Amino acid sequence: MEKRKLGWKELPDADSIEAGTSAEFKTGDWRSQRPVFHKENCIHCLTCWVVCPDAAIIVEDGKVTGYDYDHCKGCGICANECPVNKGKGKDDVSKRPIIMEDEKKFQK
Ligand code: SF4
Ligand code: SF4
Repeated sequence: MEKRKLGWKELPDADSIEAGTSAEFKTGDWRSQRPVFHKENCIHCLTCWVVCPDAAIIVEDGKVTGYDYDHCKGCGICANECPVNKGKGKDDVSKRPIIMEDEKKFQK
């Protein structure tokens, strides 16, 4: 016999989290890939800072200085959208400001 599906009124209440607490959740724990910054190749256009969904690009005085690895999920959007990675870094990895690397390399 087919199991009866619950109606919407019978479903349990969803949980909710207080607003403004996302900084307390270290989403970097999920990461399997890590962006590694090579500042000598960066033109500081800040495209990566704009597109990062986790606000994990650290900028000081208008220049990228690195990543907040507590919150970077390793999605790679920054590396994919960086104009230098897509331009002269496309065929030459040594010219890229952002290189995605296997997270396991950084774990002790
Ligand atoms: S998108 Fe690339 S070139 Fe632009 S600031 Fe970020 S790392 Fe530097
Ligand atoms: S890999 Fe994703 S989460 Fe991490 S800094 Fe780049 S865009 Fe942000």
